[in-house]
Amino acid sequence: MTTQRARRAGQMQVAKTIIEIRALVGRARAEDRTVGLVPTMGALHIGHISLIEAATECCDYVVVSIFVNPTQFGPGEDFAKYPRPLASDLEICEKHGVHAVFAPTPEEMYPRENLTWVTVEKLTEPLCGRFRPGHFRGVTTVCTKLFNIVGPDVAFFGQKDAQQTAVIKRMVADLNLPLEIVVCPTVREPDGLAVSSRNQYLSPPERKDAAVIYRSVQKGAELIRAGETDAARIVAEMCAILRQVPALRVEYVSIVDAESLRELDQVTGKVLAAVAGRLGSTRLIDNIVVDTPPK
Ligand code: AMP
Repeated sequence: MTTQRARRAGQMQVAKTIIEIRALVGRARAEDRTVGLVPTMGALHIGHISLIEAATECCDYVVVSIFVNPTQFGPGEDFAKYPRPLASDLEICEKHGVHAVFAPTPEEMYPRENLTWVTVEKLTEPLCGRFRPGHFRGVTTVCTKLFNIVGPDVAFFGQKDAQQTAVIKRMVADLNLPLEIVVCPTVREPDGLAVSSRNQYLSPPERKDAAVIYRSVQKGAELIRAGETDAARIVAEMCAILRQVPALRVEYVSIVDAESLRELDQVTGKVLAAVAGRLGSTRLIDNIVVDTPPK
């Protein structure tokens, strides 16, 4: 039986503690295997699976972390109700060739009051940062902890969370963390809605309405690709599409530089057309990245 087969036949390891995952990764390292990490909050879907596939393509040993990180949720956000279908998540990981799952409890990750935080300035202020104070501090802190615990060569993130990827990349560069960040394309439903664990909160009519967010970022990207450079005009057209769904409470519609996340008046270089809004109690975000010739 090949190693791959043996693993598929049920040898994926599940570590609940930091000591266990370190021992597993240590063994892989001793065999000179490269290590890939896919950080997730679970409720795995085809978006997460695309990251797992990218990781298994490029790394010899793939770790998926499943941890609903309390420090990235604000008061009144969905931490308590966030879905936690661990048994089916483990099945998905096993089926897709994951070598080890790290699924710690909050007490394992935060055994005492956390006094040490990793904060990335500026990039965390606009877009989602305006509506989720403290969110990115929780994300950067937990990712630093996961990077320190697992010690991956490469970590995989999704373009769907464009601000998160920009923030993490900057943190890794600023702190000389010894790993590479790979960003994978957004996986979408047939109507364009970005797949998300939170989509299951949507009622059937909300689910139908939710695709408007994609139509709006798609319009923005289309105009940019066609050579429109006036960001205000692009935003106005994106807003016109969003108005087709009066129930959507728009948080932002922005054209920003993809790396600095600075709001642009004139489109130039690599840019994001980004939207966030709420349908009922569900917060949805989406973006499309477009590379334009620098002016
Ligand atoms: P989450 O479990 O929502 O924290 O997401 C874990 C990782 O999966 C993050 O890097 C997300 O950007 C990524 N991800 C979530 N949804 C998608 C999607 N539809 N397409 C690609 N990546 C995704």
